[in-house]
Amino acid sequence: MSELAILVTPGDGIGPEVTREALRVLQWGADEAGIRLHLEQRDFGGASIEACGVPATDELLKRATEVDAVLLGAVGGPKWDHLPRDKRAETGLLSLRSAMGVYANLRPAKIFASLVDASPLRADLAAKVDYVVVRELIGGLYFGEPRGLSGALGARTGINTLRYHEDEIRRIGRRAFALARQRKKKLCSVDKANVLETMQLWRAVVSELANEFADVALSHMYVDNCAMQLVLDPGQFDVIVCENLFGDILSDEASATTGSIGLLPSASLGENSALYEPIHGSAPDLAGQDKANPLAAIMSVAMLFAHTARRTDIAARIDSAVAAVLADGKRTSDLLRGSQAGTTRVGTRQMGDAVLAKLAQH
Ligand code: NAD
Repeated sequence: MSELAILVTPGDGIGPEVTREALRVLQWGADEAGIRLHLEQRDFGGASIEACGVPATDELLKRATEVDAVLLGAVGGPKWDHLPRDKRAETGLLSLRSAMGVYANLRPAKIFASLVDASPLRADLAAKVDYVVVRELIGGLYFGEPRGLSGALGARTGINTLRYHEDEIRRIGRRAFALARQRKKKLCSVDKANVLETMQLWRAVVSELANEFADVALSHMYVDNCAMQLVLDPGQFDVIVCENLFGDILSDEASATTGSIGLLPSASLGENSALYEPIHGSAPDLAGQDKANPLAAIMSVAMLFAHTARRTDIAARIDSAVAAVLADGKRTSDLLRGSQAGTTRVGTRQMGDAVLAKLAQH
C-alpha cells in the first residue's frame, strides 16, 4: 500500500489530545513504510453538534465509507447529555459504526510486564492477561428495534430489543475463529443462553461454525460467569466473542485488569471499512489538562498499520516502543498505582514525545 486516505475525527473531551499524539505516530509509521498519507480532519460528536447541529453529518458518514480508515478520538460529554437521543454525541458514534458496517470490534487486552504492579489483580493473575475481546458492534441490544420510551410520569416504560439474525452471528463468529487460529487456537463464546432465546441462537450458530475451524478449541460461557473469570483466572482466555452490550462491559473490565482504560486500543472492521479508536470515552474529568493517557490511541494506530496498511512490522515497532517507554517508568497519572519506585509522571504530550523518541532510536 503506497497511499492511505484517513479520516480523522478527534471528537470531544480528551479525544483531540490523545488523537494529536496518535497522529504523530501515524506520520512516523507512514514515513517509515514509504506510505503517502492523505489526512482529512472533521468535527464529530459534540464538536459536530456545536458546528452543524448533529453529531454526525451525512457527508461525514459517506466519507467514512470511502476512505481507507477512520481514526477516532472519543465523543460525548455532559454538555450534550440532555439532548434527545438522536441528537446525542454517542448516537453519532453508533451511526458511524453502522454506516461503515464495521461489525467486528477487536479489543486486545494484554498486560505490559512493567505494569503488573498497576493492575488491581494479584501479580500472578495480572501477568497472564493476554486475550482479545471480539465484540459484535452493529447489532444486538444497542441497535435492535423496537426501542424507546413511552408513557406519562408514573407509568413510563422503556424498551430495547436484543435481536440477531443468524447471518450476523455467523460473520462475527467467523472473524473470531479466524483470529483464534492466528493465536493460541482457543475461542470462548460468551452468551446468556440459559435465559435469552437470542443467545440460544448465538450458541447454536457459533457451535455450527466449529466444523469449519476444527483446529480451534471452542468453549461456551455465560456472560455473568465470564465477568467473574476475567478476574479469577484471566489466563484461561485467548479470544472471546460476544454480543455488543456484553462486549462493551467485558472489555472495560478487561481494560481495568491491564492497569488502565487508557491502554486499550481497538479496531472495528467490516468487509471494506475500518475504524480505529481507543476504547475509552471522552473523560471530561481530564479534558484540557494534559493528563490523559495517549497510549490506547497510539496503539490504535498500530492496529491500523496491522489491519489496513498490512504492515505488521510497523505495528510491532509501535507496540515495542510503547512497552519500552513503560519499562522506562514513564507513567501518566492513571498508571500511578501500586509501587511507584522508578517511575516518572508525564503528561499526554510528554508520553507522545517518549514514544516517538523510542521509535527514532530503533
Ligand atoms: P470514560 O472512558 O470517558 O472515563 C472513565 C474513567 O476512565 C474516567 O475516570 C476517566 O478519567 C478515565 N479515563 C478514560 N480514558 C482515559 C485516558 N486515556 N487516560 C486516563 N484516564 C482515562 O467513560 P465515562 O466517564 O463513562 O464517559 C465519559 C463520556 O464519554 C460520556 O459522554 C460517554 O458517553 C462517552 N463515551 C464515549 C466513548 C467513545 O467515544 N467511544 C466510549 C465510552 C464513553
